[in-house]
Amino acid sequence: MLEILQQEIVECKRCPRLREHCINMATIKRRAYREWDYWGKPVPGFGDPKARVFVLGLAPAAHGANRTGRIFTGDRSGDWLYRALHQTGFASQAHSVSRDDGMKLRDIYITSAAHCAPPDNKPLPEEIRNCRPYLERELDLLQPKVVVALGKIAFDNYLDILKSRGVIASRAAYRFGHNEHFRTAKGQPVLVSSYHPSQQNTSTGKLTQKMLLDVFKTARKLSGLPSTRKSPAAHSKPASSPPDR
Ligand code: SF4
Repeated sequence: MLEILQQEIVECKRCPRLREHCINMATIKRRAYREWDYWGKPVPGFGDPKARVFVLGLAPAAHGANRTGRIFTGDRSGDWLYRALHQTGFASQAHSVSRDDGMKLRDIYITSAAHCAPPDNKPLPEEIRNCRPYLERELDLLQPKVVVALGKIAFDNYLDILKSRGVIASRAAYRFGHNEHFRTAKGQPVLVSSYHPSQQNTSTGKLTQKMLLDVFKTARKLSGLPSTRKSPAAHSKPASSPPDR
């Protein structure tokens, strides 16, 4: 079922502005990646179909996931995220560079509010709304214990789903902050909020590697996973990151 949904996402054309941007970026390419055959399509979620922890990001990066075809793979945000996931036992390796780098995730699934790379990394509200049905279906299929929202847009998007389903009355009671958690209703996943590992946050020190690590330690605890666990075995040796990312 998850595979069918992911294939639907890859074939989606609901947002003409985003589709055009992804294709343009895939055609023009960044000089450092001119040898790459860019993915250029919507980027589906990635991870363990039995995941207890569900990570919600914002959108693929034009020369990151829009190039590699795997969420948070091939850009600096991904470097930060997968390093934290590896250190907390969710990811088999700390480096995520391509779809065939051997990365395996256990107990965690990663997706995004919009599945297509937006200009200036900013999807429009209507584009996030267009993509929301996919997110709802991912949540329904996985039924996670914990949802980690990376950034306020992802946080609000998740709360909007809860509101539309009558789980919460409004977003007002939920204040976004780093490594905060919220129990919205009985039987619902615990919502954990985190600053997004964007370059803007990591280069200014607003988000440190330890702060991100702490989020995934919180997620392990709230989802009932043991606090330490050996990382899942990788298929192959970690590939090295492209030099100029
Ligand atoms: S952002 Fe989502 S809804 Fe819009 S075209 Fe991409 S996959 Fe489709």
